[in-house]
Amino acid sequence: MTQDNPFEVARKQLDECAKIMNLDPASHAILRAPMREIHVSLPVRMDDGSVKVFQGFRVQYNDARGPTKGGIRFHPAETIDTVRALAAWMTWKCALLDLPLGGGKGGVICNPKEMSPGELERLSRAYIRAIYQFIGPDKDVPAPDVYTTPQIMAWMMDEYSKIAGRNQFGVITGKPLSLGGSAGRGDATARGGIYTLREAAKELGIDLKKATVAIQGYGNAGYYAACLAQSILGCKVVAVSDSKGGIFAQEGLDPEAVHKHKTETGSVVNFPNSKQISNEDILELDVDILIPAALENVITAKNAANIKAKIVAELANGPTTPEADEILYRKGVHVIPDFLCNAGGVTVSYFEMVQNFYMYYWDEKDVHERLDRKITAAYHSVLNASKKYDINMRQAAYVVAVGRVVEAMKLRGWVA
Ligand code: GLU
Repeated sequence: MTQDNPFEVARKQLDECAKIMNLDPASHAILRAPMREIHVSLPVRMDDGSVKVFQGFRVQYNDARGPTKGGIRFHPAETIDTVRALAAWMTWKCALLDLPLGGGKGGVICNPKEMSPGELERLSRAYIRAIYQFIGPDKDVPAPDVYTTPQIMAWMMDEYSKIAGRNQFGVITGKPLSLGGSAGRGDATARGGIYTLREAAKELGIDLKKATVAIQGYGNAGYYAACLAQSILGCKVVAVSDSKGGIFAQEGLDPEAVHKHKTETGSVVNFPNSKQISNEDILELDVDILIPAALENVITAKNAANIKAKIVAELANGPTTPEADEILYRKGVHVIPDFLCNAGGVTVSYFEMVQNFYMYYWDEKDVHERLDRKITAAYHSVLNASKKYDINMRQAAYVVAVGRVVEAMKLRGWVA
């Protein structure tokens, strides 16, 4: 196992938390491994008539607090250990936000950028057929993640409903609005992160109107983070990047114009009046706020010492390795840890489940206010724990979240 294996990282973080909390060995052992894993092979008819077999996973990590919940990633570099780590982080995320849900995650090894809409639809439906009996509104509820979209959620919901013989909107979240989706789900991950940034800036005494921001990743999370950092916080977004490279402009970028450029050309690169930078350089820029919003393991022992931002807001899952965490903490960088910072997505997913069960839909303002209340409360519970026990923000988030999962396991009689 390599050092950057995300599941190794997740376990290391949990072990550290167990030590801080003096966690009983049985609870620790339960939480070190997923409750259930499903591995599937998915034969899919491609447009040229051939059949390609894709590998898929669904990991249900822990359901002590409720049905497991978490997204599905379509990525060429997906691994079972990445999905395990992400499922563990979903468990802590749902507990930290005090949602009545456990944690899970799914993944399919594929490259959606090279697939036609028809191929993607057949793959999405095949995945649901393969895991049908293990998911459901009160069992395990998937959602979008890296390279999966509301359209993909719609196909998946439809496939599940067809097999069930009735509409089952609550089986999956992140659906389009006209199919039981929630208002405010589209930008929820970024919006939640922006609310935590607002709280962090208050705590550190940073004037956000004068603050500069760099964002690594310009997918759903990164793009909306750029827009909302500007519109809600009044920050200047000076750099953004995607898998092809990055752009920098000292006087600030227009997030909408960059988005339009990316839609037309396939990348943010070559945006007019910007300087080209690399995906690595963007992390070390002299900015006030750094938002990693792409993949795991980008802030490591190699570059952590060069990070100049005062706040690192982790919209991606697992962007910082444990060694880098240590370096950032010693440097006094305020890290808003992933399963707090990016919890807005699953929080609004939970609202979507509630609305599906209820058959009554809230307006966007309602969703924003409820999200703000939930994530602001979570931020302060983490901040208070970090002060009380003199530990960093990630360790504090673990202590709060793991404490809640253990309490549920005790009450259910799983551990003494
Ligand atoms: N994939 C998102 C996450 O990592 C959202 C999960 C969900 O909505 O269930 O939090």
